[in-house]
Amino acid sequence: MREHRIAAVPGDGIGQEVVRAGLEVLEAVAAWDGGFRLRVETFPWGTDYYLDHGRMMPVDALARLKPFDAIYFGSAGDPRVADHISLWGLRLAICQPFDQYANVRPSRLLTGIVGPLRDVGPGDLDWVIVRENTEGEYAGAGGRVHRGHPEEVGLDVSVFTRAGVERIQRFALALAQTRPAKHLTLVTKSNAQRHGMVMWDDVFEIVRLDYPDVETDRMLVDAMTTRMVLDPRSIDVVVATNLHADVLSDLAAALSGSMGIAPTANLNPERKYPSMFEPIHGSAFDIMGQGIANPIGALWSAKMMLEHIGEPSAAAALMAAIEAYTACDANKPRDLGGTATTAEVTETIIGTIEGRNV
Ligand code: ATP
Repeated sequence: MREHRIAAVPGDGIGQEVVRAGLEVLEAVAAWDGGFRLRVETFPWGTDYYLDHGRMMPVDALARLKPFDAIYFGSAGDPRVADHISLWGLRLAICQPFDQYANVRPSRLLTGIVGPLRDVGPGDLDWVIVRENTEGEYAGAGGRVHRGHPEEVGLDVSVFTRAGVERIQRFALALAQTRPAKHLTLVTKSNAQRHGMVMWDDVFEIVRLDYPDVETDRMLVDAMTTRMVLDPRSIDVVVATNLHADVLSDLAAALSGSMGIAPTANLNPERKYPSMFEPIHGSAFDIMGQGIANPIGALWSAKMMLEHIGEPSAAAALMAAIEAYTACDANKPRDLGGTATTAEVTETIIGTIEGRNV
């Protein structure tokens, strides 16, 4: 029997609740498949760990994660600790050293879910946003001088390397090639930022020639927000910088119904390091501990993880169960207008996988 090693890092807030749900569903789908087993180890890192140890994860964390086939992540963030500490100490501290440079964020209006856009139904909004995940605006380059004085200066320097730009654009072009529409939009802000962003445009004009079957266009990020709202059917795959794609993918998640649904994969496509899968939402402290978080974002992320580790039929079964749930008239979680708990949603989806809901 095939065996895959999964490192679960639930992290903070509702991350813990949705990862627990995701692990139960993964167990069920592995049992349904019968051809593989998941060996899961859970690492209790995050803000509680920080308050006890002064770090979000131990010094040897990366060495401990390295042998795993994939990392299943919840969320990092807690009001007791500044956001930049939790983000840089956990999520980015894994993504960057593991060279997870391709952040893949699908958004689709699932059947049964009513999004905020008028006259936009399932099939009209089916996007994948590809975010550069290791450099750019979040490279960590910068500093503060004259701290606390009136003349204080704060600098955040965007770092774009030609190699980094080329590899993410090639990844997005290859991904677009696998989809029916075979269309890619390059998003930059090269009218105002005339160095790194113009390099993105220049590199794109060269690399896209290697993918002649992919139709491409280019947009400025501000215009892209308008296009996402007014003309969603014209969009297929989008590639953008770390910051721009971060913002666009939150908008995409909201337009596809709820922040609680959207998944993301942080991929090291060369598989030199484990890749990491997580819901797009954060810790949502307003609903933490109440058992009402929507687990679908975490479940859809688990589906992407199954694809990555080479279990496509289990992945397809899981996605079919998620869509059967959104399409049916069962009670939905609060963010989708119902009162269902995390446990109830999870149980319904497991029931479908196990064939009990026919
Ligand atoms: P962070 O700072 O870690 O990103 P946040 O609370 O600022 O966390 P999100 O966690 O992304 O931001 O959530 C924004 C809001 O969306 C939350 O306040 C919550 O009400 C809602 N939300 C997010 N995820 C879910 C979910 N899985 N189920 C239900 N509601 C959710």
